[in-house]
Amino acid sequence: MKKVGVLALQGDFAAHQAALERAGAQAVLVREAGQLSNLDGLVIPGGESTTMLKLLHYDNLMEPLAQFAREKPVFGTCAGAILLARHVSNPAQESLGIMDIDVERNAYGRQLESRVAVIEPEPEFRALTGPEALEAVFIRAPIIRRTGPKTRVMARYGDAPVLVEENQYMVATFHPELTADSRVHSLFLRKL
Ligand code: GLN
Repeated sequence: MKKVGVLALQGDFAAHQAALERAGAQAVLVREAGQLSNLDGLVIPGGESTTMLKLLHYDNLMEPLAQFAREKPVFGTCAGAILLARHVSNPAQESLGIMDIDVERNAYGRQLESRVAVIEPEPEFRALTGPEALEAVFIRAPIIRRTGPKTRVMARYGDAPVLVEENQYMVATFHPELTADSRVHSLFLRKL
């Protein structure tokens, strides 16, 4: 069984742990660098990216995470997507810069702080995981404003990409761990 870490400094890491286990992986909560050494992949959950950044520095995890991502698959959701992006705006903040995407934080505005949308995934996603629509929970979500030449868009909401992958990396601006559908986590587990 594949062993996946869930960064557990802040945010909804417990829901990711449960979702990964539903999808058939062993999921362990990661709080220090030493735990990264025997993992097949890592999930960075949603939460508050500014707080997560502070804790990553405080716990000396920035460099170990960047090092881990050079070799292993990483999946970031919402705040996790913000941490993986190359450039972050609204306001600008530091990130790990692992994926060739730019994101704008809290970009759906206040009236749309949180919503559940039904989205039709792109053919690439459906080919891998089945034809059903995807329920996407957005909570003060970022918008992906730019994707790089190697980024594949797996689902969109309106015009904006909301699930994208690039090499061994994947990000979602919504929260797949909050619905019973484990196809998004399964998609990530295929990279391990
Ligand atoms: N608004 C948060 C941020 O900017 C992300 C929200 C989330 O992860 N649900 O970091």
